[in-house]
Amino acid sequence: MFEAKIALDAVGDEPSWFVFRGDELLVREDNPSSATPWRGALPRELAAREALTLGLLDGRPAFACVAPDDAVAPTGAVFSPLRPLHARLSASAFDAASLASQLVYFARHYRYCARCAQPLAPIENSRARVCTGCKHEWYPRVSPCAIVLVYDGDRVLMTRQPRYPAGMYGLVAGFVEPNESVEACATREAFEECGARLQNVRYFGSQPWSFPHQLMVGFVAEFAGGELVIDRGELEDARWFHRDALPLLPPPVSIARKMIDAWVRREL
Ligand SMILES: [Zn+2]
Repeated sequence: MFEAKIALDAVGDEPSWFVFRGDELLVREDNPSSATPWRGALPRELAAREALTLGLLDGRPAFACVAPDDAVAPTGAVFSPLRPLHARLSASAFDAASLASQLVYFARHYRYCARCAQPLAPIENSRARVCTGCKHEWYPRVSPCAIVLVYDGDRVLMTRQPRYPAGMYGLVAGFVEPNESVEACATREAFEECGARLQNVRYFGSQPWSFPHQLMVGFVAEFAGGELVIDRGELEDARWFHRDALPLLPPPVSIARKMIDAWVRREL
């Protein structure tokens, strides 16, 4: 179990460490079923300059830290991209790793104040960082995105972005604009990306998505008409697929897949 905490009362021995080099996480190679990427003391060359508190992982303290760009993995360990680790780490360790990824991203990319260009410093008992010049507090960025499963009887509207693996289709999705509700975003994206009008838009659920800091908010909606017009600036393709003839789907970790699976099981 992973319990996110901003601060820990006491740090016992053998904490779990989520060490990132760039956007890659240090994991033990010699113990593939390990529930945690690294437990115990860190090798000296990776020792944390700044430990970012994650919380309690299986009752033990867990921290993240940023390794130098030229850091070399200790013997028996490798640096791995986060996404494929979903199939390898326990659900709770992957949850902690996802939080670690977002905090490390913030620490690496938000180092200076956008108002006055002075360095930012950590704040005790807070996820924010404070400007050492003007004292403005900056919080880790979370970017809300709407994702919507649009169906019409036994057909589902699916989209393909150029960066997807060959043959894979996902769902209509996009970032929320300033002063826009997430529901309105879902409706707007379906029309902008595919020319589809929606009705009966219902909330499905949400999921943090640490690539790098999205919050995916899922909806299910009925197709209410419209000509399929594909926004080629955003999409490589979009088309309707029958329930019994779906293409390669997004990985099980994604909310897109959870929504598609639920629709295929006729639970939506
Ligand atoms: Zn400042």
